[in-house]
Amino acid sequence: MSDSSAVDTVTTTGLVALTGVNKHFGDLHVLKDINLSINRGEVVVVIGPSGSGKSTLCRAINRLEPIDSGEIMLDGQPLPSEGKALAKLRADVGMVFQSFNLFAHKTILQNVTLGPLKVRKTDPKQAEQRAMELLERVGVANQASKYPAQLSGGQQQRVAIARALAMDPKVILFDEPTSALDPEMIQEVLEVMIDLARQNMTMVVVTHEMGFARSAANRVVFMADGEIVEEATPDTFFTNPTSRRAQDFLGKIL
Ligand code: ADP
Ligand code: MG
Repeated sequence: MSDSSAVDTVTTTGLVALTGVNKHFGDLHVLKDINLSINRGEVVVVIGPSGSGKSTLCRAINRLEPIDSGEIMLDGQPLPSEGKALAKLRADVGMVFQSFNLFAHKTILQNVTLGPLKVRKTDPKQAEQRAMELLERVGVANQASKYPAQLSGGQQQRVAIARALAMDPKVILFDEPTSALDPEMIQEVLEVMIDLARQNMTMVVVTHEMGFARSAANRVVFMADGEIVEEATPDTFFTNPTSRRAQDFLGKIL
């Protein structure tokens, strides 16, 4: 078997592949038989009403939330449930939350170097150099010695993206990364994300920013009541949603 066919196998099964995933919180069935495969370099936007299970889906992919049944594979391997393998998985799956989650008592630079130093055991000089490059890339290198509270929300979220990138993740999950931002800061964060998408980062993005979906997504996944109701290219989804629930949802937000 040639190398290229091995690569093909990974591509067809998806870098992230969920099969028959179910999750309950007590009596509430939050993820209902989810099947979703995300290819390397693909940008998947997940949209849907509040409470439809979007955050739980992201958290399940990172094993922040255990699932009841089904399987989640990352790069051809089942998700580990504990120990060193789990730490490695968490390092491979970047996560950017709505509420930045930076360490308040560490500088911006330290926030970005911490993961590589602790988890990847990167040489400190190298970690710092890389962190500065990433802070440059997201436009906040001049804030490196400040503390998170001294930065605007938009700047903090860009630091959070740099911090995720510092681990060289295979995929980054964004859970409503601009929802907590003042309106004038949304675009500066979306631009960083659009830039990442152009550079073929594999991304799962929960967002209601339809402009981002249109310009950066390869695929839109619409969730409602714990189910994937519809999947399509942004163009098809926004102009011609087929399900009633997607039509209703778009009618409310567009
Ligand atoms: P979304 O991100 O689409 O708004 P979530 O994944 O956060 O939806 O939540 C899906 C459903 O699961 C909601 O009804 C929510 O109230 C419920 N839920 C989420 N987390 C928990 C939890 N830790 N315990 C109990 N119920 C939860
Ligand atoms: Mg959510």
